[in-house]
Amino acid sequence: MQQKQFKTEVSDLLHLIIHSLYSHKEIFLRELVSNASDALDKLKYKRLTAGTSAENGVENSAEKNGSDDELKINISYTEGSNEAEKEAPWTLTISDNGIGMTESELEENLGTIAHSGTKAFLKSLTDAQKADSNLIGQFGVGFYSVFMVSDRVEVISRAYGSDKAFKWTSEGRDSYTIEEASKSGVGTDIVIYLNSDNTNFASRWRIEDLVKEYSNHIAYPIYLTYEENKYDDKYNVTGKETKTEQINSAEALWTRPKSELKEEDYNDFYKNSYSDTEKPLFYLHTKAEGTTEYTSLFFIPAKAPFDMYHSDYKSGVKLYVKRVYITDDDKELLPVYLRFVRGIIDSEDLPLNVSREILQQNRIMSSIRSASVKKLLSEFRKIAEQNPELYDKFIAEYNRPLKEGLYQDYANRDDLLELVRFRSTAVDGWTSLAAYKERMKADQKSIYYITGGSYEILKNSPLLSAYKERGIEVLLMTDDIDEFVSGSIGRYKETELKAVNRTDAIDDLMTDDEKKKAKEEGESVAKRFKDALGDRVKDVRVSARLRDVSAVIVADANDPTMQMQQLFRAMGQGGMEVKPILEVNAEDPFVKRICESNDDSFVKDAASVVLDSALLAQGIMPENPAEFASRLHALLG
Ligand code: ADP
Repeated sequence: MQQKQFKTEVSDLLHLIIHSLYSHKEIFLRELVSNASDALDKLKYKRLTAGTSAENGVENSAEKNGSDDELKINISYTEGSNEAEKEAPWTLTISDNGIGMTESELEENLGTIAHSGTKAFLKSLTDAQKADSNLIGQFGVGFYSVFMVSDRVEVISRAYGSDKAFKWTSEGRDSYTIEEASKSGVGTDIVIYLNSDNTNFASRWRIEDLVKEYSNHIAYPIYLTYEENKYDDKYNVTGKETKTEQINSAEALWTRPKSELKEEDYNDFYKNSYSDTEKPLFYLHTKAEGTTEYTSLFFIPAKAPFDMYHSDYKSGVKLYVKRVYITDDDKELLPVYLRFVRGIIDSEDLPLNVSREILQQNRIMSSIRSASVKKLLSEFRKIAEQNPELYDKFIAEYNRPLKEGLYQDYANRDDLLELVRFRSTAVDGWTSLAAYKERMKADQKSIYYITGGSYEILKNSPLLSAYKERGIEVLLMTDDIDEFVSGSIGRYKETELKAVNRTDAIDDLMTDDEKKKAKEEGESVAKRFKDALGDRVKDVRVSARLRDVSAVIVADANDPTMQMQQLFRAMGQGGMEVKPILEVNAEDPFVKRICESNDDSFVKDAASVVLDSALLAQGIMPENPAEFASRLHALLG
């Protein structure tokens, strides 16, 4: 028998769980029962598909695999003695006749943390966050939570299709062992040696209460085996008898009629299924009848899943066919931008042995999927209209993924445009495009927006003064993806969206006469700057919209902005360099001095400083920061 070391992350996780979740240690039972239920799901699916796939070479026979037919979970316990704990330990055993684990699966699943998202999460936690049990609870601590109540755990498992069993043993510090063992049927027994503080879990009532509280909805029966005293007629104890009793309702919640379910039932189901300590923001339970028949139950978590932006994020929607779990592969079930939605889809029409691979091309699946998206989007809209306070909470968490939808889901773009929200110069909170349009001035040509920085930076941008003066509202797009999003929106209900840092936006504000005048009067100023800056700029324009600054950077209508170029460079995608356009304020005293000067080297330095400081004001590093500093220094001198 070989002693093996846990991977460092496991040790870290163990430490974290044991120290932060101590006040909720009973959740270990929920975690183990939910693992057992997953293992039963997997076996059920295997059995259904084994007949049609040559992959296992195992016939679809429960007997051959040494498992009895009823898929179930069994919990039993032994009451030990506190005095001589070693000889008579208190134990709790959770057994399932599910898919089981092979030797290497035991090693992989229980010796390492399989999900790299969890690893990244652990790394990113600050000490204060580690002390926050709500946060830890949010990501579902899984199997290792068992070490909060025990000093030793044995996992005896026999995998489906195998006649060998293995025993994994660990005391939860830094190592574990795996050895061959014997086990009659397929499945897994988890034997927990309760430590002296936690012997109270070896109790019929405690277990029953916890299962009812946390695992009542598990779709498989959970049996509890316990011993009861036998009595004679005069109530004298005559011996003991072993009883087994089902302690959960074993009914898939979503199959029950909506009218029978209370908000609390949904919330409990959600919290226990997704290890979330907070109830969902809202949920949506739909029974569709007609050409395609299915049930869906969707939840919107109160907080966006912490790993939503990790590349290996798994969405929380599971597909069932007639109550049989099939897959939780997100790509088929809901589009990527709705990955924050959790819940189930249960179809009556898909074939039970539908393979995960062909789902993608399945017509029924795609019609369920598009109906589900429509349903979700219209629910979001309903909430926006009827419960603005709730919608604000929703937007605070999910505005960004909805915006991703604008360029991922063309078919639903009109609906998504009603759902996304932006900051604005006209209101304190969020605004919709519809509300902006409502506020537009009679002669206003476009919807104006500005991108490229935080709320504070954008709100104070010198580019806004011309709009402020005219009482025109500008949307402040503060998300880093807004740059792509705004470009892909193009128009909202016939009205064009224009970035105020683009040359065509300002043209909107001027009459043809004004444009002509600005051009004539500005020609010599522009020429002066162009000569001084050479190929550092694409163009120089003179404008009358700026106040209190010498110049700003703008871009032509179809060019990428400097921020966008910066974003692409950061993603390792160069090749779209476009030089900035400098928009100069002809009324600015410093600009006037430059134009009036006869000192060529002063003009060169000063024009260059004007350009670089305009870049800096928009958060863009000048090409040559050292040169900028020395020029600035020379000018100050
Ligand atoms: P999670 O359930 O979030 O994946 P866990 O730490 O609880 O994380 O479990 C790790 C893995 O161990 C599971 O993904 C599963 O593959 C395996 N596992 C745990 N319990 C069982 C069980 N009773 N039967 C089969 N496999 C199991």
